[in-house]
Parts: sequence; C-alpha cells; structure tokens
Amino acid sequence: MNLTIGHLYPDLLNLYGDRGNIRCMVKRLNWRGIDANVREFQLHDSIPFQELDIILLGGGSDREQKLVCEELKTIQSDFRQYVEQDGVVIAICGGYQLLGSYYQMGDEKVPGLNLVDLYTTQGEGRLIGNITIQSDLFEMPITGFENHGGRTYIQGNQPLGKVVHGFGNTDDRSYEGVHYRNVIGTYLHGPLLPKNPHLCDYLLQKALERKYGKPISLEPLDDSAEIRANQYAQNRTY
Ligand code: GLN
Repeated sequence: MNLTIGHLYPDLLNLYGDRGNIRCMVKRLNWRGIDANVREFQLHDSIPFQELDIILLGGGSDREQKLVCEELKTIQSDFRQYVEQDGVVIAICGGYQLLGSYYQMGDEKVPGLNLVDLYTTQGEGRLIGNITIQSDLFEMPITGFENHGGRTYIQGNQPLGKVVHGFGNTDDRSYEGVHYRNVIGTYLHGPLLPKNPHLCDYLLQKALERKYGKPISLEPLDDSAEIRANQYAQNRTY
C-alpha cells in the first residue's frame, strides 16, 4: 500500500514548521511498511488532485494569505471535487481560514476556497497560547499551540473539538476547528500530529480506506513517547 501526500505552497504556508506534520505522517506510514510519496506544489504549479490522497495546507501570515488567494481561484473547482469525493485535507490556521468563503481583515476581504461553509473575520487582539481540545472522535485530547487574529465561524458544521483550555475558533472559547467530510481545519500549529498521534492515524486511515475502498485498521505503534508529549503539553495549558 502507499499514499501520496500533497503539500500546497510550502514556501508561503509553513508557519511554525507545519511541514513537520508531513514527516510525522510519512514516518507513521513507513513504520507500518506503507510507502509514502510527498509532492510539494508551489504557486502556479498545476495540481493533479486525482493523484493525491492527503493534502496539507499550512498556516501563513495575513500577507502570505493574500499572495495565495489569487491562485486559489484557479484550483477551486478541482479542489472542491477532491473534497466532495472524500479526499483527506488537514488545513492549519491560515490554511484553515482559506477553506472558507472569506477572511475579512478590516476593509479588506481575502476570498477563500469556499470548500467548507465557514468564514473568518479579524478580531481585536490575537488569540495566542497553548490549547487543549476534546474531540468526539477520540478519547485522548488534542493539544497544540494557537496564534491567530482571525475568528472563524463554522456555521452549521461540526467543530473538531470542544475547547478545554485556550481560545479556539472565536473569543468565546467554545469550539475549535472544523470537521467536514474528510477535511479537518484547525488553529493548532507546529507539531500538531507528532504530539497527537491519534489524529495523525485518523487521517492516514481515512486516506487508505478511500484509496483502497475497504475498511482498514492500522497496526498499533508504540506511542508511549507521543502520549507523554501530549500529556506534558496538556499540563502546560493549566
Ligand atoms: N493570518 C491569520 C491570522 O492571524 C493566520 C495566521 C496563522 O496562520 N498563524 O488570523
């Protein structure tokens, strides 16, 4: 078995080393004897969505988001088809905001990909700090770091989780992220997947099941170090 992971615009959308999430996915596949192929796409490259199994859209500053948004128009309809056919996407912070219809920054409106019914507006001050959330998908909490000026409104969509500590989508500290089909959008940056192996395996399993058209259960790994990292990070949020 093998998976192809596409990294969109790594030169522009790679805040806090979001690309480390790809290394984590590759390692966890390889440890189970599954091959992984990583393809990076720069601005203006054509993207063969039908050849991709997982797409990572990382975080970027407001300036970088503006640079990317023009390009998004050219890939929107293929990307939408990929999502509606249950393609797996992990979109982080700026990338998460770009999944929606727009990001309103003062008088300026940055159009998004319109893949998930959500929108973002810039609020007063930035929401910064360690964060822990509880998702209905897993028993183990998801933990990470957030730093965003945008507040994201996910309309009727499912969130990724409920905020245990931190801010999440908006100032009211209620919910974090979005989960639509096989798309996960989240404000959690940096080593999201290394310290949340349950989330990483969830994405890998969905991608393998879609590609091979059958239920797949991933061989368990020794995650004791990852679980300790997750617990350590949770404790830092209190
Ligand atoms: N520009 C966005 C914001 O500040 C996203 C920043 C990021 O990816 N950290 O809301």
